[in-house]
Amino acid sequence: MVEQQIRARGITNPRVLDAMREIPRHLFVPPPYTLSAYTDSPLPIGNGQTISQPYIVALMTALLETRSEDRVLEIGTGCGYQAAILARLVCHVTTIERIHAVADLAWKNIASLGLKNVSIIVGDGTEGYIQNAPYNGIIITAATPQIPPPLIDQLDEGGILVAPVGGRDIQELITLKKHHGRTDQLSHGGVRFVPLIGEHGWTDT
Ligand code: SAM
Repeated sequence: MVEQQIRARGITNPRVLDAMREIPRHLFVPPPYTLSAYTDSPLPIGNGQTISQPYIVALMTALLETRSEDRVLEIGTGCGYQAAILARLVCHVTTIERIHAVADLAWKNIASLGLKNVSIIVGDGTEGYIQNAPYNGIIITAATPQIPPPLIDQLDEGGILVAPVGGRDIQELITLKKHHGRTDQLSHGGVRFVPLIGEHGWTDT
């Protein structure tokens, strides 16, 4: 998976590649998909949600430019795979999931790996989590029509936010960097994510 799907597409950050090697993706997919866990695609995890494609997880992780002392916020825990990767790379991960049953699944997966630096919060991630702010990095792993303003407020000076921004069905992967209160945005191509449902996201239809 790492050589053929990730390094071959140009991701060379050794810390990211090591984290992708160390976290066993097959532990994060439901049993019917165990044999497909290392394929080049997202997979269903139940409750209409998905585990993201390995390459996209690696790309978003690389774009965050993490350092070991960082504190990171993830919006959209899902099964906890991205949070587990981040837990290998940073000091602390706060991750927010809106669906209780999905958060429970993530909690079991993260606990089974013995990762102690992840806090899983159930709630609307579009509001962020002020209690642990500011964050050096913020990653949104669901499709948002805009960057939720509370997340920009909770991003530290010099911090990076990565998110799929655009329509409900197709989005652009963007990075936003915060410098002296100003934000600079860059685009990294098209992506497809399930919608971010919440106060500053999409409505639940
Ligand atoms: N990060 C996951 C992984 O490692 O595979 C993939 C996340 S999945 C593509 C998107 C998740 O975002 C879903 O579990 C969904 O329930 C969650 N979600 C959607 N809107 C949310 C919100 N406002 N706050 C928190 N989680 C949300």
